[in-house]
Amino acid sequence: VTGSAVGVDVGGTKVLALAVDSGATVLAERRVETPADGEELLEAVAGVVVELWEAASGSAGGAVGVGMPGLVDPTGVLRFAPNLPGVVGLDVVGGLQRRLAAARPGGSGAVVVDNDATCAGAAEHLAGAARGVSDAILVTLGTGIGGAIVSGGSLLRGANHFAGEIGHMVIDPSGPACACGGRGCWEVFASGSALGRLAREAAEAGRAEDVLARAGSAAAVRGEHVVESALAGDEQAASIFELFGYWVALGLSNLANLLDPAVVVLGGGVVRAGDVLLEPIRRAFNATVEGAAHRPEVRIVAAERGADAGAIGAALLALSAG
Ligand SMILES: [Zn+2]
Repeated sequence: VTGSAVGVDVGGTKVLALAVDSGATVLAERRVETPADGEELLEAVAGVVVELWEAASGSAGGAVGVGMPGLVDPTGVLRFAPNLPGVVGLDVVGGLQRRLAAARPGGSGAVVVDNDATCAGAAEHLAGAARGVSDAILVTLGTGIGGAIVSGGSLLRGANHFAGEIGHMVIDPSGPACACGGRGCWEVFASGSALGRLAREAAEAGRAEDVLARAGSAAAVRGEHVVESALAGDEQAASIFELFGYWVALGLSNLANLLDPAVVVLGGGVVRAGDVLLEPIRRAFNATVEGAAHRPEVRIVAAERGADAGAIGAALLALSAG
C-alpha cells in the first residue's frame, strides 16, 4: 500500500487530524476542539480533512480514517460513547462521505471509521512496538482503558466490531461506579484517572509529599504529578506505582490467560514514567498469570507512537482499505 491518508482521532475534548504516509510518517497536523453536537462534529472533522488535503500540495483528496471513542459498528455508526453522549447513533461514515464528496467532487477516497483504541492498536501493530508480532494486546491507560487485540496476525473484531473493550472487564462487582453504567470495571482501578485517585488517597494520608507539592493540594493531584515525582526519583511516587501496577497487572494476567499474547504494549501518558511503572507491572503480572514459571515470558513494553497513535492508526487502516 502506498500514498497517504488523513487519520482523525476524535477525543472527548479534542480532535487531532494527521496527514500520514504509508510508512506511518506524519506529514501535517491540525487540532480543533470537539463539538458536543453530532452534525457539528462531522462538520469539524470534514473541515480539518479538507485543510490537510489542501496542505498536502497536489492532493485532490484521498482515504480518510476516523477513530471514535466508543462502540462503532461495521457500517460506521457510533452506537455507544460514554464520553460523547451527544453523538450516539451518529452515522459517521455516511455523514463524512457526503461532506467530503461535496468539498471534492470525484476526489474523495475511502472513509473508514473505527474505535479509537482499535486505531491506536493498529498503529502499534503496523508501525510501533508490536510490529511483526502476530499475537499482541495493546492497552491504552488514559481517562479510561482502551484496548485492541491482535490474534493470529489480525485485529480481533467480534460479531459487531465491538471486541477489545477490555477496560470494562469487571474486576470487583462491588467496586466504584464506572462511566459505562457498571461497577468495578478494570478501568476504575487501572486507568490514568485511577492513578490520580490512588495518588489523591496517598496525599490525603500523608504518603505523597513530593506529589502533593507538585499539585498544590490533594484535590488537584493527577496521574501526571505521580509520573513527574517518580521520574525525579521520589520513593513515595514509586510506592504509588507499586499499588497501581498491581491493578494493571491483574487485568493483564486475565487477558493473557485468555489470549496468550507474545507482547503487551502499554500506551497513555502514564507510560512516560518508564520502568518505575513497568517493573511493578511485570512483577505483579508474573505473580498472577497462570504458570508463569512454565511459559515463555510475555514481554510488557511501552507504546512507541505516543499520543499520535490513534490518528496514525486510523490513517493506516484507511490506506489498507483502499
Ligand atoms: Zn465500565
